[in-house]
Amino acid sequence: MSGVKRVYAFGGGQTEGNKDMKFVLGGKGANLAEMATMGLPVPPGFTISCQACMEYYNATPPAFPEGLAEEIASHVAALEAKMAKKLGDDGDPLLVSVRSGSAFSMPGMMDTVLNLGLNDRSVEGLITKSGNERFAWDSYRRFIQMFSKVVLDAEGDLFENAITSMIHSRGVKVDTELTAADMRELVDTFKGIVAEHVSVEEFPLLAVDGVVAFPQDPTVQLRLAIEAVFRSWMNDRAVLYRKMERIADDLGTAVNVQAMVFGNMGETSGTGVGFTRNAADGTKEFYGDFLTNAQGEDVVAGIRQTRPIAELPEVLPEAGNELYAVFDILEKAYRDMCDIEFTIQEGKLWMLQTRIGKRTARAALKIAVDMVAEGMITREEAVLRINPAQLDQLMHPQFDTKATYDVIAKGLNASPGAAVGEVVFSANDAVEAAAEGRSVILVRWETNPDDLHGMDAAEGILTSHGGKTSHAAVIARGMGKPAVCGADALQIDAKAKRAAIAGTKIVLNEGDVISIDGTTGIVVLGAVNLVKPEMTGDIDTVLAWADEFRTMGVRANADTPDDAALGRKFGAAGIGLTRTEHMFLGERKDIIQDFILASAEGVRREALDKLLDVQTSDFLGIFEAMDGLPVTVRLLDPPLHEFLDSPRELEVEITREECEGVPAEKLAARRRLLAQIDSMSEANPMLGLRGCRLGIMYPELYALQVQAITRAACELKKQGKDPRPEIMIPLVSVRAELATLREETEKVVAAITAETGVQIDIPIGTMIELPRAAVCADEIGEVADFFSFGTNDLTQTTFGFSRDDIESKFLPKYLERKILPRNPFETIDGGVAKLVEMGARLGRGTNPKLKVGVCGEHGGDPESVGIFFGIGLDYVSCSPYRVPVARLAAAQASLAGKTKASDNR
Ligand code: ADP
Ligand code: MG
Ligand code: MG
Repeated sequence: MSGVKRVYAFGGGQTEGNKDMKFVLGGKGANLAEMATMGLPVPPGFTISCQACMEYYNATPPAFPEGLAEEIASHVAALEAKMAKKLGDDGDPLLVSVRSGSAFSMPGMMDTVLNLGLNDRSVEGLITKSGNERFAWDSYRRFIQMFSKVVLDAEGDLFENAITSMIHSRGVKVDTELTAADMRELVDTFKGIVAEHVSVEEFPLLAVDGVVAFPQDPTVQLRLAIEAVFRSWMNDRAVLYRKMERIADDLGTAVNVQAMVFGNMGETSGTGVGFTRNAADGTKEFYGDFLTNAQGEDVVAGIRQTRPIAELPEVLPEAGNELYAVFDILEKAYRDMCDIEFTIQEGKLWMLQTRIGKRTARAALKIAVDMVAEGMITREEAVLRINPAQLDQLMHPQFDTKATYDVIAKGLNASPGAAVGEVVFSANDAVEAAAEGRSVILVRWETNPDDLHGMDAAEGILTSHGGKTSHAAVIARGMGKPAVCGADALQIDAKAKRAAIAGTKIVLNEGDVISIDGTTGIVVLGAVNLVKPEMTGDIDTVLAWADEFRTMGVRANADTPDDAALGRKFGAAGIGLTRTEHMFLGERKDIIQDFILASAEGVRREALDKLLDVQTSDFLGIFEAMDGLPVTVRLLDPPLHEFLDSPRELEVEITREECEGVPAEKLAARRRLLAQIDSMSEANPMLGLRGCRLGIMYPELYALQVQAITRAACELKKQGKDPRPEIMIPLVSVRAELATLREETEKVVAAITAETGVQIDIPIGTMIELPRAAVCADEIGEVADFFSFGTNDLTQTTFGFSRDDIESKFLPKYLERKILPRNPFETIDGGVAKLVEMGARLGRGTNPKLKVGVCGEHGGDPESVGIFFGIGLDYVSCSPYRVPVARLAAAQASLAGKTKASDNR
């Protein structure tokens, strides 16, 4: 590998890199090079490449690649020449910082070592040269402290405690009041700490008389510090952070070695951090903090009271005004808000870092809109700059950032938004309390379909079990309710209506007020003030631009008129999925139970008539809310026994009734009911009698729903409205299923239009959610007006995974061992996407007019939206709250496609 360049110089009139080289130089190194080239004051130095770090790891055991030491040595020599100073010199020593920096910013991965090059001799040189004894000894003690902590793995507290006891013994308040002699004494104390606490086995080369002596040779110091940066790439914090952020492990980190400048040389010196605009709300103003007579991390460490950067020109006019000029230059060059670190040495400004600044969602929107108005960026760029996940946060209430609170438990951030309410432990209690106008949080071990009403009534949901795709999480996201799931410290006794928090003395009783934050996953005792983030005009502006650029439609999944109206408000162009099973819950469960179990035709008919009335009014509400826009109604889908009483509970009840001496006749009837319910139970309900199979087995049921849809539509048409229902038949795997049900559906529609005299055209299509349907989509497409990919079930059936089970069983292991790159129920899996692509292509092949969309949860996941765009779907459909996110993601997909197309030209 020798001959490959691994070290790049910057500053001092000779710079070898630029801002586009972050995969070689890391973000910090690339931007230092860029600033140096722009002529900004950057202390010179050099950057060792990320590739050198990976070469280090490719050796077993990890070792410096051949030739690297020599390449570094020649760059050190060049730097010494540029600076006209020498490392370790006792006259005028060169000091350097050693800083990590990978392609993606990884906060806290590794601490920086400052003042490297100091030793017992060069500290004297620094005194002579600066004429400032205190400064020199302060720098030396800082160096020993950082080096020992970062490179020699010594406990940081040992040093902090030594400083604190020195401050106490001298009767002063802060470290700046300590004298030169105090600092000198600290240097000795620190060396003693190193000898006592650093292991000789780990650093045999530093052993003197059986203990570790703090290294005096600058070349050894530098070599060890560089190696420590290389090693930090694989420390636990860094590995975990990359996993969370999905950053590849094989990128490596660069090492920046840079001449020191000093902010701790007295009151005309200082250090600070800043943003070119307000990172919290986006206002165009200088934003940040500084400290005088301070070095390095003092500003962020919070030891001393910092001052706002707006005051800098009052304190140090020349450096302050130059800094403001640099802000402008950087913004113009990067065409974005920048984040910077600087130091002022005796009135002279030095730039130590810049990058594109992190910002809140609100600031991101404001900055994007402002920069378009300023002519700095285009509207396309503005749309591309908003992170869809961040936009999602804005759609929900949040904890007031000014509030203080104690966290009592942590769980998964399962559904975004925050909520406050009284604790209740059952769905019924939730409904009851809500009816009395109280706000409640439903606390459950895990939720199931029987809890739906309670979830609907509650402000938020908290569970002790289950992950991000658990029932509670999925339903809560669909409802747009905050949820914290899998808070395993919660020990719930639902019967006794209380929950203990493991490891604490806290017990939550029914009625106690808690707050949950589903965006972060925290649970708080008591009420936290909530703020509903204002829907600033900036959101509307950016989304209106997004709508201009996108070609793929966005619809909402909505089961009620309220949800439909919400989807419409958020910009949905229709409803992609109305589930009808939710319309069979609550008191209607009894009616459908009567229908399913009725042996007498009379009872059956009566049940159907009742259902017809209520269903018709459901559809009236939804179609009215979506007047003029398409509404895809899915006919009944889940296994019927979901609507029946649980046989286990029924059995317990019968036994009790027996003991209570209930008449034999009544008992016999109860047993018949139990036998009937038992006979309907299936070993594998998800693969059983459900979806269109129900329509084949119980034609009256689908006929009833089609009647209700058609009647509601005809009624509205008569009123001069514009209802646009579409009928969707679920779980089709064979062409004949759809063909048969289509024919029956058309007959019912025709009968009603004849009866009412209203003409209406209702498209009939199917959900593609079984692999066979995707593979045979050409055949099915011949009898469908549209396809909607049900990617939740399609993922289950493609993998053979049960979504309700895998999360708690093996998915975590799969993710940890990288057998799966991510949860396939959150972001569409490549294999499932292939089936979607095949289904869309085959279907359109036989039916060019076929409309194709997606209605699974993936429809609201930005990355999946991009994949669906690539496949060429006509629309995605997602929960109302995710509609804005999907609009943005669809626009970004279109724009990204355009950039690619023009790149190829
Ligand atoms: P991080 O990635 O954690 O921000 P940095 O490498 O930026 O770490 O270093 C942290 C701080 O150390 C900088 O903000 C700056 O204050 C100080 N620092 C780093 N290099 C130098 C230098 N050459 N001269 C003076 N201070 C420096
Ligand atoms: Mg830091
Ligand atoms: Mg920094």
